[in-house]
Amino acid sequence: MESSGVQKPGFFLHLGARSLWFRRFCRLVLLLCFFAGVGCRGPEDLEQNLAIQRFRTYLRIPTVHPDPDYQPAIEFLLAQAKEIGLSTRTIEFVSKKPILLMTWKGSSEEKLQSVILNSHIDVVPVEEEKWKYPPFEAQMDEDGNIFARGSQDMKVVGMMYLEALRLLKDRGWSPVRDIHVLWVPDEEVGSDDGWGRLYTSKEFDELNAGIVLDEGDDSLFNNSYFVNYGEKAMWWLVIQATDGTGHGSLYFDNSASENLFKSIASINAFRDSQMALVRSGEKTLQEVVVVNFVFLNSGSRTPDGYTMNIQPSMAEAGFDVRIPPTREMADFVNKRIVEEWAPKARNMSFYFTCKTETKDGDVPISKADDSNPWWYLLRMAASKLNATLIPRLQVGGTDSSFARLRGIDAFGITAIQNVPPLYHDHNEFMNGYEFLKGINMMVETIDLYGSFSDSLNQES
Ligand SMILES: [Zn+2]
Repeated sequence: MESSGVQKPGFFLHLGARSLWFRRFCRLVLLLCFFAGVGCRGPEDLEQNLAIQRFRTYLRIPTVHPDPDYQPAIEFLLAQAKEIGLSTRTIEFVSKKPILLMTWKGSSEEKLQSVILNSHIDVVPVEEEKWKYPPFEAQMDEDGNIFARGSQDMKVVGMMYLEALRLLKDRGWSPVRDIHVLWVPDEEVGSDDGWGRLYTSKEFDELNAGIVLDEGDDSLFNNSYFVNYGEKAMWWLVIQATDGTGHGSLYFDNSASENLFKSIASINAFRDSQMALVRSGEKTLQEVVVVNFVFLNSGSRTPDGYTMNIQPSMAEAGFDVRIPPTREMADFVNKRIVEEWAPKARNMSFYFTCKTETKDGDVPISKADDSNPWWYLLRMAASKLNATLIPRLQVGGTDSSFARLRGIDAFGITAIQNVPPLYHDHNEFMNGYEFLKGINMMVETIDLYGSFSDSLNQES
């Protein structure tokens, strides 16, 4: 394995019979450079690779919450589109929240549905002191690992799209149907000003989308890719108990806190049962209901704390609930909330601060089998690289859900193998060699999707 410049034996052998003092001096200088960060150079071949250089440049643009400045990233991406020869358009539903659309027009005279390659520009915040390397310098270590916030989630995906399109252009390939690359803001904060506005807009209708590709999960294996075909429903639940206030020296039934604690005990018992199913291997995280405690709120506030001799008249707790995306599972959880977690009989009520939209009661999912031509073509693309697809539900949320609500197929695939998932984690990194390998998967996919001339009888 290639190492950092510190230990290249060839370099020292070359010095031959020169003095030991000189060799020691050189070694010291290199070591000092290394520890000063100057020597954090990756393998030479990756350093020289233009795709890697462009990827690292994108990673160095800090589109980080809570207040991302999108403009420098948009300018970088516009320059990329120009180089590749893609037309561009910027849509701004909300000021300073640009959506960038790159387009490669298809040759077909028919109104074939388009292919959308989606990627969010924003990244989650960092705790810089916990990082091995600064999170917006995209430094590369001797194994070719590039450390940066967004290197997995999901700047790597966006750059794989662009590098694949660049290679296809160079080969003289051109698509039959339109290919759009969509760069969106604010996915990490709920997409209200990104896809949340886009998916019901006339601008989106005009794209006549047939398939959306979006972020997925890295695979730890060498011969497969995870493909997310749907997401669990997200319910941000608040349960609230009221009444029963009184002096702190008394005992009485049905105080707000007593009622809330009964509910919390019931929720915890349910949570334990779901966790046990996952621990035993009987079910996956995708198949169970996940309930996690988020906040607790009660008490009579004073300027410097709480009144200590009053039993409060209100107590509430918040939970992040993730439910498999079927109407049956939603009904099952709803029944529990009404009857056990927030029953009226105990003076309790509930509300949601956020609840995944459904279509006829179900959270829409995309068909992940060969009856769906988009799945079949994706599977064919992977098989060209001797890889298989592992379909699964996303346990968190992505922008794909907006496309599915519009009845458009969407698959989440981050075409990266052999890299541990470090989404939102300290020291997030992407391996340069795996990034270059992933570009091949995008080339095969875009080739098959873009060349697919069947009208599918779905034209709008
Ligand atoms: Zn993401």
